Amino acid sequence: MDTKNCKTDIRSLSLEALQQLFVTMGEKSFRAKQVYEWLWKKSCFSFDDMSNISKELRAKLQENFTINFVKINNSQFSADKTIKNSFILYDNQIIEGVLIPTAERMTACVSSQVGCSLTCKFCATGYMDRKRNLNPDEIYDQVVLLDQQSKQQYGQPLSNIVYMGMGEPLLNYANMMKSVERITAEDGLNMAAKRITVSTAGIAKMIKKLGDDNVRFNLALSLHAANDEKRNKIMPINEQNTLKALAEALKYYYNKTKNPVTYEYIVFHHFNDELQDAMELAKFCRHLPCKVNIIEYNPITFADFTNAGEDKIEAFADYLRRQGIITNVRRSRGKDIDAACGQLAVNEKKGSAEVESQAVTV
Ligand code: SF4
Repeated sequence: MDTKNCKTDIRSLSLEALQQLFVTMGEKSFRAKQVYEWLWKKSCFSFDDMSNISKELRAKLQENFTINFVKINNSQFSADKTIKNSFILYDNQIIEGVLIPTAERMTACVSSQVGCSLTCKFCATGYMDRKRNLNPDEIYDQVVLLDQQSKQQYGQPLSNIVYMGMGEPLLNYANMMKSVERITAEDGLNMAAKRITVSTAGIAKMIKKLGDDNVRFNLALSLHAANDEKRNKIMPINEQNTLKALAEALKYYYNKTKNPVTYEYIVFHHFNDELQDAMELAKFCRHLPCKVNIIEYNPITFADFTNAGEDKIEAFADYLRRQGIITNVRRSRGKDIDAACGQLAVNEKKGSAEVESQAVTV
């Protein structure tokens, strides 16, 4: 609902619901399909622009509905071509999304919640409260805006989407799933599910649900330690979702979907950068087919973590590779801008630079 005028956001309605509504309004049901196409396929945010819809119907829609679209609030351009955007929502909340160009791909990193409740110690968003979940259209709009930005700035459409921005997507499960449905739908963005990766801090019950729902997109787990004691220290969610519970849930997920899982691992200096840590990670990797992305960390001012040295990271990756584990080392992007999960949104909201976090790594 629009909080200002209490009109329903028309994009909260399914096509079927819209068709039924049109019939009760005395309109032909195919008109609903036309409107639905304007809303999703063409991302049209004004009823007035729906040129094949009669003036009368447009007026009726205007009277009864609103379109709560997302707008770019601010963009920061990095020397490495990464573009970090803050987006403003209909209720003035700020979220963020990043466009990350590499030689092989054009990736959009999108948010799933305003803030986050999971308090991971190394993440700027973890120091914000969770304000609310994003609606499916608010996730979808971020993808549309980043796709437009990608075409305008670099002459290429998006090739990949990662749900690695603000928030825990599996704690906004239904809306995350609806957004994927719209992104992959023929009357949406028509992108392949295999181009989408949903990243979780590790909610065992919801990982199993992904298996039950037999999802076709990729799943990544932000692991960062394969030892409960260490993981509890940096990711409090691990206290209720232990490594044993996560391994069990991931095996369940794999057996249902046959999708290998990606583990994300930031190698922190003097925390999880020793051979013993690599051995624990390798052991965890034996549970199911997987690969490891080692992520470079961009330190935040008020948490006591720094990035491990280059030699430690290489030794860590080498050990994993020698164990037969596919391992990529991902360099941090957009270090010269606020390209870190939560950083720009916090700065925009508070008008200060008090929070910094890890730079995006894709
Ligand atoms: S890393 Fe992800 S789950 Fe953890 S606090 Fe940040 S946004 Fe939330």
